[in-house]
Amino acid sequence: MFEKTVQFIQEAYDTKEFLPLHEPVFFGNEKKYLNECIDSTFVSSVGKFVDQFEQMVAEYTGAKYAVATVNGTAALHIALKLVGTDENSEVITQPLTFIATCNAISYCNAIPVFVDVDRDTMGLSPKSLKTFLAQETTQKAGACYNKITGRKITAVVPMHTFGHPCKIDEIATICDEYNIALVEDAAESLGSYYKGKHTGTFGKISAFSFNGNKTITTGGGGMIITDDEALAKHAKHLTTTAKVPHPYEYIHDEIGYNYRLPNLNAALGCAQMETLDVILKKKRELASRYIDFFADKNIDFVTESQDAKVNYWLNAIILKDNAERDLFLKETNDSGVMTRPVWALMNRLEMFKNSQCTDLSNALWLEERVVNIPSGVRL
Ligand SMILES: *Cc1c(COP(=O)(O)O)cnc(C)c1O
Repeated sequence: MFEKTVQFIQEAYDTKEFLPLHEPVFFGNEKKYLNECIDSTFVSSVGKFVDQFEQMVAEYTGAKYAVATVNGTAALHIALKLVGTDENSEVITQPLTFIATCNAISYCNAIPVFVDVDRDTMGLSPKSLKTFLAQETTQKAGACYNKITGRKITAVVPMHTFGHPCKIDEIATICDEYNIALVEDAAESLGSYYKGKHTGTFGKISAFSFNGNKTITTGGGGMIITDDEALAKHAKHLTTTAKVPHPYEYIHDEIGYNYRLPNLNAALGCAQMETLDVILKKKRELASRYIDFFADKNIDFVTESQDAKVNYWLNAIILKDNAERDLFLKETNDSGVMTRPVWALMNRLEMFKNSQCTDLSNALWLEERVVNIPSGVRL
């Protein structure tokens, strides 16, 4: 039934070999910078590439400060901690996300509350968020508390699914109104903008990921961005074992983390950042071929909305129903074209099955239908 799709994708990539969902591309200064690290012996926690990479990401996104971390999960963990998330807290997020979002919440010993997504953006729904906050929470001393559990809600963590920005400005307004910190999980959305502003710059503090499957990679890596100088300084401190600066003495003034990004990985990051615009251009070209192809196939390819500019990190289609989705997954994967259903909703997982949820009709609807198709660029 989907032979034409398989054929189209194989032609687009000019191969009949196995096609992964996403793969990194290295066509810039990667080897040069890595060799510089090795020649200088600065491969680990000290070296110029970490600062340079932070500066490049800050400049690119328009954030005032950027702090590199060992991965995106660590960036989220620290971001949540910095807005006061602890064992007495709850954090609102979307059930349709990668496990890292909820793991970071759990590392703070906090518990997640799941609010529905919008069908068009696949990200946190401002409407559903507003309803939940109006009905289920109360304000005490300038903070938001869950009426049922009595726990403080410290953060709202929307996620820009597959690089598609959620309605982040509306979410920011609601967070302000309810005195909750907005922490964006922008792990998937480097190069994605909402109303002309880069994703990750709407919240108080945000996290990016440079894992091997993301738009650009450092092997493993992440970044915290914020406009708040004090938060940025504290983020750097916490991610570097909370060591008090001193030429030779080792004093640590709180429990810190060894979450710093090695210089070796940052070197890769600098070279990748230099090529980001070319990668994004190629990704848009691929997406535009998909758009044309799926237009007359009666299959809904997820495109950017008027308000968004999307990085097309992972291309997504929405099949008619669960049965059609299963058939699509089987036929494509059997032919060596890797496709993948969206993540199982977080509230289904053993660890979070008792979490409080709003009506999740949209998340459930998407869970049954969304499939990712090959999205890597080849140069
Ligand atoms: C990739 C990703 C992260 C971070 O993942 P790391 O592998 O730790 O870098 C966080 N949230 C989402 C939604 C992601 O896709």
